[in-house]
Amino acid sequence: MNELSTEQSRQIEDGRKLVVPTRRVVSEGLEGILLQPIPVLDHGFVRVVDYMGDDSSVVQAARVSYGRGTRKVSEDRGLIHYLLRHWHTTPFEMAEIKFHVKMPIFVARQWIRHRMASVNEYSARYSILDREFYVPSEDDLAVQSAENRQGRGSALNSEDAQRVIDLLRQDAERNYDHYLEMLNQNETGETIDANRAGLARELARMNLTLNFYTQWYWKIDLHNLMNFLRLRADPHAQYEIRVYAEVILDIMEKWVPVTAEAFREHKLNAVTFSAQGLKTLRRMLAGEQVNQSETSMSSREWSEFMAALRG
Ligand SMILES: Cc1cc2nc3c(=O)[nH]c(=O)nc-3n(C[C@H](O)[C@H](O)[C@H](O)COP(=O)(O)OP(=O)(O)OC[C@H]3O[C@@H](n4cnc5c(N)ncnc54)[C@H](O)[C@@H]3O)c2cc1C
Repeated sequence: MNELSTEQSRQIEDGRKLVVPTRRVVSEGLEGILLQPIPVLDHGFVRVVDYMGDDSSVVQAARVSYGRGTRKVSEDRGLIHYLLRHWHTTPFEMAEIKFHVKMPIFVARQWIRHRMASVNEYSARYSILDREFYVPSEDDLAVQSAENRQGRGSALNSEDAQRVIDLLRQDAERNYDHYLEMLNQNETGETIDANRAGLARELARMNLTLNFYTQWYWKIDLHNLMNFLRLRADPHAQYEIRVYAEVILDIMEKWVPVTAEAFREHKLNAVTFSAQGLKTLRRMLAGEQVNQSETSMSSREWSEFMAALRG
């Protein structure tokens, strides 16, 4: 499970006892969960380590104001919606958030593609990784999608799913045993054979499977966080990264509720039409029956267009 060691829990508790007076803006919603790990998958978590700014920082930057601002809440809300709608993005770069995330290595590989963030990963050259690897639940095992090469289709039958789970578990366990053997260490860090030198950690780690867990600190501004969430909280994103994005989206709601509302409205749940799509939509609205062959859209674009209209 997502258990922390006694020492890790103590450090979090100590951190949460620290309360300092500040002249900076404070997000009450985020203060309530600051430092606490929120479980994701079977051993992972997301926790907010620190943050700077809130909704008011976006408004303050957009107006280049001297103070906190004296406008009405409705005006600030209107401004945030306007900024997001019109791609006026830099005010959102003024608020930042820092997370500590624990995730399987294959999820980290997708995550790291989001380059506009600062990352510091747990070093498996320096430290020994724990025997912690992700095994999907039976419900999350599916066949390869026939339509989408990057997706899943229907669920595996129970017998096949159980076989997959057994293989994943056995392979990871065996590779971890070999990892320890190469390091010449047992589970508690003691040397197995005093007459043998252990292989360097940076080399021994190479046989660990991609479902082993890694961890990092991840700092990102609100603008780039929304880019990440738009792609990874989307139903097309792989389930294992999407569950992290959904937790982070909940955190964003607590941190910047107005921006989160505008983000859902204008980005996450919004649809963009191509010029051809818009032209077709206008013809349909005028009562015309339009087929794909009467447009210049490819079959794939057409099916995406129709799916967007159906909702
Ligand atoms: C469903 C899905 C499938 C994917 N499949 C694949 C795949 O098969 N193979 C694969 O390799 N990747 C894949 N990706 C990753 C994808 O191509 C992007 O790398 C990833 O989503 C990060 O997006 P980004 O570059 O916009 O984000 P960031 O790296 O955070 O960058 C944000 C923005 O900053 C700018 N920027 C950042 N760095 C540069 C730069 N060096 N040069 C110019 N502009 C820059 C760009 O405007 C960019 O949009 C997939 C992503 C998704 C969501």
